[in-house]
Amino acid sequence: MTREDDCLFCKIVAGDIPSEIVYEDDRVLAFKDISPMMPVHVLVIPKEHYSSIDADIAPEDASALMEAVSKVAHDQGIAESGYRVITNVGDDACQSVHHLHLHVLGGEKMNDGDPSVR
Ligand code: 5GP
Ligand code: ZN
Repeated sequence: MTREDDCLFCKIVAGDIPSEIVYEDDRVLAFKDISPMMPVHVLVIPKEHYSSIDADIAPEDASALMEAVSKVAHDQGIAESGYRVITNVGDDACQSVHHLHLHVLGGEKMNDGDPSVR
């Protein structure tokens, strides 16, 4: 597992920084966002360090992430009401943690197509 010493989410994967884990498997960790924007706001991340979705992601990690998103949505009870999956890449999108993460958001009605919701 590649780990970046200065990466916050690598530290969460390693257990050096506590998090509220809602799902975990060999490749993926999902935990509650520390400042939730919605009633459900979970971050789904690969345990392997990738800087963003724009990195060269191993197919096994990509598919594990997709499967985990759906599991998390079902476990969190938002699969039926609906949810939004967002990943920020780079400065224009205000990516603040440079370890790939998918925001899974739901639990209340969102604006139609509002790109600022994360
Ligand atoms: P970004 O802006 O990079 O797309 O999202 C980073 C997310 O990480 C933000 O929503 C922020 O609230 C969350 N975050 C930052 N630091 C921590 C932390 O230490 N623990 C958890 N659980 N979430 C964090
Ligand atoms: Zn990392």
